[in-house]
Amino acid sequence: MEKNKPRIATASLAGCFGCHMSLLDLDEKLLDLVELVEFDQSPIDDYKHITQTCQIGLIEGGCCNVHNVEVLKQFRKQCEILISVGQCALMGGIPAMRNAIPIESCFAEAYLNGPTVYNPKEILPIDKELPSLLDKVYPCHEVVHIDYFLPGCPPDTALFNTILLALLKGDKGAIPKELLHYD
Ligand code: SF4
Repeated sequence: MEKNKPRIATASLAGCFGCHMSLLDLDEKLLDLVELVEFDQSPIDDYKHITQTCQIGLIEGGCCNVHNVEVLKQFRKQCEILISVGQCALMGGIPAMRNAIPIESCFAEAYLNGPTVYNPKEILPIDKELPSLLDKVYPCHEVVHIDYFLPGCPPDTALFNTILLALLKGDKGAIPKELLHYD
């Protein structure tokens, strides 16, 4: 009987999905990867939710609202190894540019005073379906334990292959420095 393959899941929080695009840029190497693993929640099979415990999880984006925090905590519970992927997950990235600005000023610029805003009734988005914004954007490791970090915006495509193969082989050896960038 064929041994169950390790499962990999991916999820996106406050990110642009560019890190996922870098993973997808593995192109034909993805075919080699699916010989070794099963993809769970990911853009590869388009599963929208994680279906069971996975051996490796890749998380993109930081936490800017309460929904991101819930998703991240749940994802952490379901992934034995969790890898923070890209500058948004590692440091908050572009969304964290609001961290130096009071949240009321962010709302005012977005919905009242911005140069392209037309909102004569000055209605702010208050529907309870909308997740509340956090006081600032948090990197993932400030919310849950993270096992590995892949820097870059986005991380180099080859870096995904290198770290996934290393973890699958149980070889946590050094990642080539040329694959790491901190832009
Ligand atoms: S790190 Fe860069 S590519 Fe990845 S989600 Fe953030 S902005 Fe997009």
